Amino acid sequence: MSSFEREERIQFDPDGSEFSTLAVRAGQRRTSEGEHGDPIFTTSSFVYSSAREAAARFGGEEEGNVYSRFTNPTVQGFERRIAALEGAEGAVATASGMAAILSVGLSLLKQGDHIVSSNSIFGSIVSLFDKYLSRAGIETTYVDPSDNDAWRAAIRPETRLFFLETPSNPLAQLADIEAVAKIAHEHDILLAVDNCFCTPALQRPIEFGADIVIHSATKFLDGQGRCVGGAVVGPDRLMQEVHGFIRTAGACMSPFNAWVFMKGLETLKLRMEAHCRSALAIARWLDEQPGIEKVYYAGLESHPQHALALKQQSAFGAVVSFEVSGDREAAWRFVDATRMLSITGNLGDTKSTITHPATTTHGRMTPQDRARAGIRDNLIRVSVGLEDLEDIKRDLALGLAAV
Ligand SMILES: *Cc1c(COP(=O)(O)O)cnc(C)c1O
Repeated sequence: MSSFEREERIQFDPDGSEFSTLAVRAGQRRTSEGEHGDPIFTTSSFVYSSAREAAARFGGEEEGNVYSRFTNPTVQGFERRIAALEGAEGAVATASGMAAILSVGLSLLKQGDHIVSSNSIFGSIVSLFDKYLSRAGIETTYVDPSDNDAWRAAIRPETRLFFLETPSNPLAQLADIEAVAKIAHEHDILLAVDNCFCTPALQRPIEFGADIVIHSATKFLDGQGRCVGGAVVGPDRLMQEVHGFIRTAGACMSPFNAWVFMKGLETLKLRMEAHCRSALAIARWLDEQPGIEKVYYAGLESHPQHALALKQQSAFGAVVSFEVSGDREAAWRFVDATRMLSITGNLGDTKSTITHPATTTHGRMTPQDRARAGIRDNLIRVSVGLEDLEDIKRDLALGLAAV
């Protein structure tokens, strides 16, 4: 029996294994060399034992690898692992989180179809919908994600997709996944949830009725700020369509990045627990500070959707946003006075990051759109990392003192 056969024998039943076990073992693959670590298959193409076998592989009569834009064993390892963690049949790895959303739009929708989207989503997704999918004749209507009646009211006969992100960035607004999924399914509409902020360690949208889960693996799945990547997760019948698009359009994940993300998933739960513990402590502490007007974090009992967060999430995430007393100048003084936090637009890293959304991540919106979205000039977003809690607090206190 080769090592690889042994590996086949220890395949885990995704329905029967606990999250931590799946995070470390699902999708694992061993070659006949018997290596313990996961190999990286850095190859563009694959060889065959004969012309007949080549023809059979190309013709799809025989399963197996052909070319790494179509399938790659390392990439498949990551796909199996993230699918297992989300409790889904399958997954398609993509070059970035944006490529994941593009692939859903172009593989599952067609000209004339309509999307209803939360109005509180990642900025590039709004551009993708309004500037590019619109050119393919796919229109988008935006709604308040926490208003279930608004979702229902926005439905047209040609609506095919609901899209949302919960909790939202940067204001931690939640959508009730179960309620929105129910509305979608009454009208034969698919619900896609961007699970970037919670990850499957905190929230599994498919358990609440979502059809598709989207990931920017760039954030917490890697969790260490190393690679850009994404994934679409869901039932096989939909993943076949998405995979067909990715292998043709070429927005596939590199094997190296897939290997990094597999490693990231192994520690996902532990990291998320530590992120969330510190973030809750920071949110509570900020909430008591003079100089802070408002804290946006669903873990606070005062958050209007705290009960919903408790229902669909096992913890509240790493991102804490808050408004300081004063204007843009005050917010900038806060940011500039910190010494350790990284001033960057990214989040989901072991290193804590600090962002002024109004002039960076949301800077391209018009002032009116920003006002409508509730992104004020005195708003600051912190992604709480894995440094010592007291050190993070000390750094934020420097910011506070400068307001
Ligand atoms: C970053 C992000 C994306 C886009 O992912 P990329 O990997 O940067 O392409 C999508 N959704 C959310 C919520 C994000 O934070």
